[in-house]
Amino acid sequence: MSKRSPSLSSISTKLKSGSPKPPFKKRNKKPERKAIGIRLERKKDASLLNCNLKRPYPPEKIRIPIPDFSKPCVKIGQTVQTGQKIAEAQGPEGVSLHAGMPGTVEKIAVFPSVTSSEKRMIEIHKHREPKTLPLVETHKGWEEIPAEELPGILQHAGLVTTDPVMEPVHIKLRRYAGARTVIINGCEPEPYVTCEQVLIMSHSLEILKGAELLKKALDAEKIFFALEDCNLEMIELIKSKIYFLKWEHVEVRTVPALYPQGLESTLLQAWFPGEENEAVVFPASTAFAVYEAVAQQKPFYERVVTVGGECVVEPRNLWLPVGISFHDAIHACKGVMREPQRILMGGPMAGTAQVTTEVPVTAGTNAILALPEEISKEETEEPCIRCNLCVDHCPVMLSPAMITLAAEQKEFAVAKEWNVGECIECGNCAYICPSKRPMLRLIRSARALSDPAVTRD
Ligand code: SF4
Ligand code: SF4
Repeated sequence: MSKRSPSLSSISTKLKSGSPKPPFKKRNKKPERKAIGIRLERKKDASLLNCNLKRPYPPEKIRIPIPDFSKPCVKIGQTVQTGQKIAEAQGPEGVSLHAGMPGTVEKIAVFPSVTSSEKRMIEIHKHREPKTLPLVETHKGWEEIPAEELPGILQHAGLVTTDPVMEPVHIKLRRYAGARTVIINGCEPEPYVTCEQVLIMSHSLEILKGAELLKKALDAEKIFFALEDCNLEMIELIKSKIYFLKWEHVEVRTVPALYPQGLESTLLQAWFPGEENEAVVFPASTAFAVYEAVAQQKPFYERVVTVGGECVVEPRNLWLPVGISFHDAIHACKGVMREPQRILMGGPMAGTAQVTTEVPVTAGTNAILALPEEISKEETEEPCIRCNLCVDHCPVMLSPAMITLAAEQKEFAVAKEWNVGECIECGNCAYICPSKRPMLRLIRSARALSDPAVTRD
């Protein structure tokens, strides 16, 4: 695409004039790799003070979003137990859905979901006396299960990736068939968020065994365990487990503790430039869920979530059932000590603000943050000054200034020409912009309106 195309020129002239050259750099897509990122204040200590992973007392109700290509297999008024299947996979793309607590199916209806959208959900109300969870036992012979049977087991366990994409794991395995390397991502570059860290420190062996199952399903050769270089204790722990298992095909690799180093796309670009299909990245918590699904025959219905932010009385990580509301999750941490200005799903850089705390936790919810005014205060937006800082700090070599300008002018086709679809929504451009332009909001609208298929739920 020519940078001087008429549509771009018309947008460029709406910028502050006076420059004889085009206003923004368009980055070379294959530059020499270097660690692009921002060193953020980590703010992780509060949620790490109490490292015991607990399950809170079941809430009054949960609302479990029904995935695409799944159909409810329970009726209103039916009693269900924890882990019971409540929706069947429809076709090869679908996944099963399971109840996260015992109770009665009260409604199957449309309710508010994250990012202000609405979704069809199954609402389960708690029994008067909820039963305690049965102890899960390791299924004998799970290590001998043939590789070709693993995707089916994961599909019936309802396993999706524990990141915002929430891709069914069996579909991701199919998409990356032929990959030689599995990367287990234990990095958490966002401030406040520590759910992967706590899970790795408490279940490292299970995560490694889950990684081995993913490698087996893909017939891959190698596993990399990606960790941030500041987490020395975690690095030593994983290395000692690898040594104990005598697995020479597993290697720990570290990335700088710079945001957004440690996200899936930056790991692939850093280690497999130009050969991204040679490797596939899974969060450490997904590898753990794979181990549970195969070795313990446990369906996916809960995940570890960081509940934190300055407003929460007792920030910590908890096992939460999929479907529990943000309100009940915060209540499980003794509520708030002052009124939050903003409730986020995810970290402060790339998380999404919620308009209500009645939205449910999903497989992709890694954190619920209640932030006070002084942290979440929106600063006054100024016009773009063409400093190019956003371009210099974009980890995927985009020109965020041009994309956001196009979005402001509702020129979504132009935003697409500037590769908005490649944005990983890391939020670096918004953080670094001296004019405090609402970069991420504009980029998300441009992504959604230039290609609805990329909208995140
Ligand atoms: S949000 Fe998108 S455009 Fe902005 S820095 Fe991150 S990847 Fe680049
Ligand atoms: S960082 Fe902000 S002010 Fe600077 S070029 Fe990008 S959008 Fe414009």
